[in-house]
Amino acid sequence: MNIHEYQGKELLAKYGVGVPAGFAALSVEEAIEGAKKLPGPLYVVKAQIHAGGRGKGKFKELGQDAKGGVRLSKSIEEVEANAKEMLGNTLVTIQTGDAGKQVNRLYVTDGVDIEQEYYLSMLVDRKTGRVAMIVSTEGGMDIEEVAHSTPEKIHTITIDPAEGFQPHHGRAVAFGLNLTGELNKQAQTLAKQLYTAFIDLDCDMVEINPLVETKDGNLLVLDTKMSFDSNALYRHPDVLALRDETEEDPAELEASKYDLAYIKLDGDIGCMVNGAGLAMATMDIIKLNGSFPANFLDVGGGASKEKVTAAFKIILSDPNVKGILVNIFGGIMKCDIIADGIVAAAKDVNLSVPLVVRLEGTNVEQGKEILANSGLAIVPANDLGDAARKIVAEVKAVA
Ligand code: ADP
Ligand code: MG
Repeated sequence: MNIHEYQGKELLAKYGVGVPAGFAALSVEEAIEGAKKLPGPLYVVKAQIHAGGRGKGKFKELGQDAKGGVRLSKSIEEVEANAKEMLGNTLVTIQTGDAGKQVNRLYVTDGVDIEQEYYLSMLVDRKTGRVAMIVSTEGGMDIEEVAHSTPEKIHTITIDPAEGFQPHHGRAVAFGLNLTGELNKQAQTLAKQLYTAFIDLDCDMVEINPLVETKDGNLLVLDTKMSFDSNALYRHPDVLALRDETEEDPAELEASKYDLAYIKLDGDIGCMVNGAGLAMATMDIIKLNGSFPANFLDVGGGASKEKVTAAFKIILSDPNVKGILVNIFGGIMKCDIIADGIVAAAKDVNLSVPLVVRLEGTNVEQGKEILANSGLAIVPANDLGDAARKIVAEVKAVA
């Protein structure tokens, strides 16, 4: 789960991390009120969307010359004008895709006199099984370019969870940022605070870009992106409360209500599978046969009729879907019960695209009989290879 920049800063501030003062705003009036509480004379109005690259982003509704999603403002009047221009409009950045994201929230924050911009992020590194802290002196809006052209300017420090954060990790971070004296000490403290927050809050990723050195010699977090391990959210009701559902894909949101693991993809064959491993194999074999999956969907172990119906509806809500492949292994669930669910769901949603079903497992013969006698144009398949070939052929025949 992702949260907004301002929420991330509020969380980090609780761990002692230095952030500029600021206020979230849902309206122009709230933006003005927020600015009035800040010392000024420089304010920054920042679009709050779950995507980075806002500074260099463009608003769809405004001209190419209009400013992006991070706007320096030299007076309360400028804050007002910027807030008016940003709220309700669609910001397109390198991370949003062409559709962009509507800006419904702003953050009005203190303008900071920047001496230098640095980069610092943390993530769970699956290869080492440790938390990796990644730092660079080349922070700011072009970090992707730095990683691509001058990877030697990026340093990775890994922290063994059993050992925990040690002073030498802090020194390595400060050294990687090329800091000396007081700033070096501040970086060591900051690294420890960030690691503590990361572990405490069960984060997946924390990215601070930029971390800045101010003209008066302090380190401040100027931008943050935080995401959390969804499987651990039950331990953090305060974090879960920060969820902004308007930022999430509507189909993925609907799926989460039925406890379905759904991720939309770009192909045209909808997949309904039980078990993540089988779902991955199904996607692979569709590709092997020359087509692309429209989604990953794991209906889980207890696939009830309600769940299967919801899954069909979610798959069909994607206009790219030209056919559906159901690939279910009846282990705990029996194949006849699953077949009943598929037939009822297909009737319920008035299925109009080709449907190939491969069932395997307990009571598979009864299951196949139910499908055959359903009166629906369900194409039965004997194994995974057969199923993939059939759905690819069906979809190509329609196209
Ligand atoms: P994004 O990464 O989405 O483009 P940032 O928050 O990193 O958004 O802002 C982009 C740039 O704007 C920063 O690299 C920094 O130079 C400037 N900036 C952001 N916040 C402030 C601030 N509070 N004071 C001064 N400059 C800022
Ligand atoms: Mg940034």
